[in-house]
Amino acid sequence: MNQDIVVTRFAPSPSGALHLGNARTALFNFLLAARYGGRFVVRIEDTDASRTQETMVGALCADLAWLGLDWDEGPDRPGPHSPYRQSQRTALYQQYFQRLESEQLAYPCFCSSLELDLARRAQLAAGRPPRYAGTCRELTADERAARLAQGRKPSLRFRVPGGRRIEFEDLVHGTQSYLSDDIGDFIIRREDGSAAFFFSNALDDALMGVTHVLRGEDHLSNTPRQRLLLEALALRPPLYGHVSLLVGDDGTPLSKRHGATGVRELREAGYSSQAVCNHLFRLGHSTPLNQMLSAPQMAAAFDLAHLQRAPAHFELAQLRHWQSDWVHGLTAGQARDWLKPILPSDLTSEQAAAFVAAVLPNIVLAEDARLWQQIIFGEALSYEEPALLTAREAGPEFFTAAANAISDRADIGVLRTATGRKGAAFFMPLRAALTGRLHGPELAPLLAAMPAERVRARLLHFTVA
Ligand code: GLU
Repeated sequence: MNQDIVVTRFAPSPSGALHLGNARTALFNFLLAARYGGRFVVRIEDTDASRTQETMVGALCADLAWLGLDWDEGPDRPGPHSPYRQSQRTALYQQYFQRLESEQLAYPCFCSSLELDLARRAQLAAGRPPRYAGTCRELTADERAARLAQGRKPSLRFRVPGGRRIEFEDLVHGTQSYLSDDIGDFIIRREDGSAAFFFSNALDDALMGVTHVLRGEDHLSNTPRQRLLLEALALRPPLYGHVSLLVGDDGTPLSKRHGATGVRELREAGYSSQAVCNHLFRLGHSTPLNQMLSAPQMAAAFDLAHLQRAPAHFELAQLRHWQSDWVHGLTAGQARDWLKPILPSDLTSEQAAAFVAAVLPNIVLAEDARLWQQIIFGEALSYEEPALLTAREAGPEFFTAAANAISDRADIGVLRTATGRKGAAFFMPLRAALTGRLHGPELAPLLAAMPAERVRARLLHFTVA
């Protein structure tokens, strides 16, 4: 690592909610800065007004905050390079546009989207890769003036130098080499005057002193353009690392088809941020550490050399594994707080503690406890067929003996003695009668949670043949 302080950034476009691919990018940038005691910047890429949804700015920040990816500078946190919304940096961009234009490094382009589209089709039909044909590259001052006089609004194109080889080291993909002749002159300012992302991101990275850019692999081919731009402006480029794309368990790019793919959806479904981060940490980044890690532990273990090229598989089963680890790591008090929305309000604290202890080993999400809440505290009980059979087979005497043994509380040891049965012959019919099913949480805490009157009533239900 060089001697400079490490500065990383996350540059979301507020055109939608934070999805897992972007959350992973944010996590990696956050961890890299944290590992080296650097700065992590959140910069909103909102120069394209047509794609900006204002409410998404706050929503993206809320999701990042929930994940625990605290930023040092951002739209809501002024810093040495404020503002951190690109829509508020237009005047700055204009200075650089003018500079490039006055140095003949950029030129106005009057081609309409129809003309560009036709040219692109013609190139494709001729078997050539589509790139800007250079129509407006050499317009004279008079020709430009004439077009402006017609009211045509130009975009601004960067003049890509010919005959150059652009080489750089990608932190993930190694040495990259491109020929400038394969890159057409590209738009850096749109017709409406707004900066294209190629331009604003490269410029802001340099101006903000960003040292490392970790971003999705889909941006790899943008990098030579951005390096050319920074070279033209005599600004230092950051190091780039392009992380592999996230795919679902079927190997296709992660999308809605794969279920919940947004951070907010996972939060609302009840996943903990620690579980989400632990799964994301291992997507496209290998680690020998198999245990649940805290954010500082992840930062200490984050290693650029461990970023992988192969597509990273997001798997719900893995996420559930981390979530389940998280649940099992909760203290009794934390677990009770977590399940509070599910607990009936009239429980004694002993009953609540017994309920939490009973269900915790069997649940992944808080909502999973609702079924057991209904079974244990609800009036009516529905029986699954095998449970009904098991209870009937145990016979009325079993239940009469059990029901008679209940005082103001139901104790598993007392019931066992009273029925004279043990092992499965004792537990299974009891479980069947009390819960209507043959599988579920451990019986002793479950019995301790259930009001004694309810236990007696459910046992009495089977005392008549
Ligand atoms: N808004 C872009 C994205 O989300 C960021 C591109 C970049 O990181 O330079 O993909």
